[in-house]
Amino acid sequence: MKAGGLKRRVLLQGGSIALMLGVHQIARGATILAVRVWPAADYTRVTIESDARLTSQQLVVGSPPRLAVDIEGIELNSELRELVGKIKPGDPYINGLRVGQNAPTVVRIVFDLKQTVRPQVFSLAPVAAYKHRLVLDLYPEQAIDPMEALIAERLRDAPKPGTGTGTGSSNNGSAVAGIAPSPAPVPGAAPAPVRPAMPAGDPLGDLMAQQSMRPGPAAPAPPVVAGVDRPFAPPVLVAPAPLPPVVGTAPVRPVSPPVAAARGGATASRTDRIIIVALDPGHGGEDPGATGPSGTREKDIVLQVAFRLRDRINAGSVNGNPMRAFLTRDADFFVPLGVRVQKARRVQADLFVSIHADAFTTPAARGASVFALSQSGASSSAARWLANKENDADKVGGVNVGNHEAQVQRALLDMSTTAQINDSLKLGGAMLGEIKGIGARLHKGEVEQAGFAVLKAPDIPSVLVETAFISNPEEEANLRRVDYQENLADALMRGIQRYFAQNPPLARSRQL
Ligand SMILES: [Zn+2]
Repeated sequence: MKAGGLKRRVLLQGGSIALMLGVHQIARGATILAVRVWPAADYTRVTIESDARLTSQQLVVGSPPRLAVDIEGIELNSELRELVGKIKPGDPYINGLRVGQNAPTVVRIVFDLKQTVRPQVFSLAPVAAYKHRLVLDLYPEQAIDPMEALIAERLRDAPKPGTGTGTGSSNNGSAVAGIAPSPAPVPGAAPAPVRPAMPAGDPLGDLMAQQSMRPGPAAPAPPVVAGVDRPFAPPVLVAPAPLPPVVGTAPVRPVSPPVAAARGGATASRTDRIIIVALDPGHGGEDPGATGPSGTREKDIVLQVAFRLRDRINAGSVNGNPMRAFLTRDADFFVPLGVRVQKARRVQADLFVSIHADAFTTPAARGASVFALSQSGASSSAARWLANKENDADKVGGVNVGNHEAQVQRALLDMSTTAQINDSLKLGGAMLGEIKGIGARLHKGEVEQAGFAVLKAPDIPSVLVETAFISNPEEEANLRRVDYQENLADALMRGIQRYFAQNPPLARSRQL
């Protein structure tokens, strides 16, 4: 760096050997380029980006809980000082921090914590738009159990009949809607210990049974084909309700009139079990996904679509059984691909739907597509290209590959998935048909296949939906529109309903 060179010259003129040694270290050291903080219930990540690899040591200290991190070979600069202001009050783990030059070439950051953490500190080599990254992941001492989180969310919704879910409302006009993410599960609220194996029975269903007198959900977005209260009624599927041809910028009502408003007040008591659909908004946090020509980020759009689909699912039912959406992420933070699969398995999801809006090498590429896993080759070179790109998410988002859990996850992903793929193709086909029904372009008329890591849950039908190409200017504009997102969520919901009509969910007696 220029400044370093200047400083060295000045100090050399000073003639002190001790100073020369110190300066030599600084000259070899790194410069901090940027700092980022991604608070989330699962974990809070602090990323320190630099022009050379950083080495660090950390120390966890007890009451009050603190984490001290010494980063070697750097000087405190304005970028690093910005870290102090980037801690948000709602951060589940970090109360605040202090940063200072602890020794001539050592910067010490002391995090004042809200709870004791299990830190994971690791380095990432340059990738995509990033230079070297030092990553500090602050996990709770006891990992949040997705099933516990789902039950907690269910409980939170339950005591407020008639208030709606509070998310995904579409009264914000046409621009990218300010969808407030649902409050994340409170990590400090004494989560139960993680169970080593899948739960037996149906904890959510038990919970529902206890609350059998709860009125039906008064969601702001009545589902298009939800609430079918008898064994599946094909007419709903034969004649999907035509959606109003909404164009323009006026606020759009969530959905056209409910086809089946027959969800009477006490029907919620008929709960054999809850149908759980895992929704997986791609990317997040350090991994923005694709970026459109106007700067729209894939990670933001897919989260919005997932919230809209969640509202429909949470207001829906299958064969009289209520549905519940589980989001693999509900905020802007990164979730490794293996963890997404693991979370869906933990809640015993009936389906897994990964939502994306990727870019292609040419802006002319357009249209929606749906993918299932392939255990052999990809169904096209484009599908292979896309799967490789998606599978790179872990590199961009940043995974601690030395972590034992990461190795276990990879082993899991090598299990056989032949039966799963057959079901996934059916689910994907149902969704493609519905996407076509809303007048969206299809990139290809059939479900494609490739080796997507996120689709590898061996026991859950799993599809990846590319809602559109964000690299296409027209499709980028569509993706930002509330009405387009609503129509898309409707279509995906109808696809799910159609799949279940032809492939009724099994009774939950399985225990893995
Ligand atoms: Zn993507």
